[in-house]
Parts: sequence; structure tokens; C-alpha cells
Amino acid sequence: MRRIDKIIIHCSATPEGRDVKMEAIRDCHVRVNHWSDIGYHYVIELDGFIAKGRDEETIGAHCQGHNLGSIGVCYIGGVAKDGKTPKDTRTSAQKQSLIKLLKSLKARYPSAIIYGHRDLSPDKNSNGVIEQSEWLKACPSFNAKDEYKDI
Ligand SMILES: [Zn+2]
Repeated sequence: MRRIDKIIIHCSATPEGRDVKMEAIRDCHVRVNHWSDIGYHYVIELDGFIAKGRDEETIGAHCQGHNLGSIGVCYIGGVAKDGKTPKDTRTSAQKQSLIKLLKSLKARYPSAIIYGHRDLSPDKNSNGVIEQSEWLKACPSFNAKDEYKDI
């Protein structure tokens, strides 16, 4: 088994209310980034559906310098309708599903600590390219480390 010491939360940086599905992100990561698969292990869609991305046993591509021992979880949303201002857009269904998923991950990886992307490498995208975009520095647009500290 892969040794997991971090669970890292991301947002998709898609505008509030836009119903993007996991498959669309996978498509983008494969066609645009030329990766073998989606970079995240799980995607939480707007209706709360927990879509499986990359297999947990496979190293992800979501947080430069921290992929080796981590699981990447991304919720759809994270910016306001203007498409650039960071905003916690989680629906109540997404909030419930995040808690459910994080509890099950913590049950399997008890020593893993839950972080937001911004707590680790907040201005690098998953390719390691430094970007100055506000949403990337804010990802996942809420304080995941604090909110999930008791899970
Ligand atoms: Zn991120």
C-alpha cells in the first residue's frame, strides 16, 4: 500500500453554479496536460456525487512537491460567477459528501493530515509552474485545515 500522510483539498476553479463533471476534468488533464489520467483521486460534483478519479494506489498530480504521499480531493467550484474571484461555493450536498469522504479516508489512513492546497504549495500549479492567479493561491477557497481538523 502507498503510504499516505496527507489528504489535500482542492477546488476546480470553475465558476459558482457551473455543473462540471469529473469526466470533463479528466478530459482536460489528459488532452491539455497530456497526463495519463485525471490528477485527482476524487471529485465532488455539485450534487454531492463523489466521483472516483485516479486510483488511490496511484500517485496523483495535484500538488507540486506533495503528490507522493497524498490523496487529492477536488470539489467543483471555488470561484465566483466572474470566474476569477476566490469564493467558497460548496453546496450543502458537497459539504456533506466532503465530510463523508474525508471520514472514510481517515479511517483507512489514520495518520494522514487534511490540508488545503494553499497550505502547501499555494502558487504552483500541479506542473510546478508558478502562477499568480488569485484562485490558485486561495485553493480551495476555504480553510480546509481548520474546518476538518477534528475529522
Ligand atoms: Zn488546488
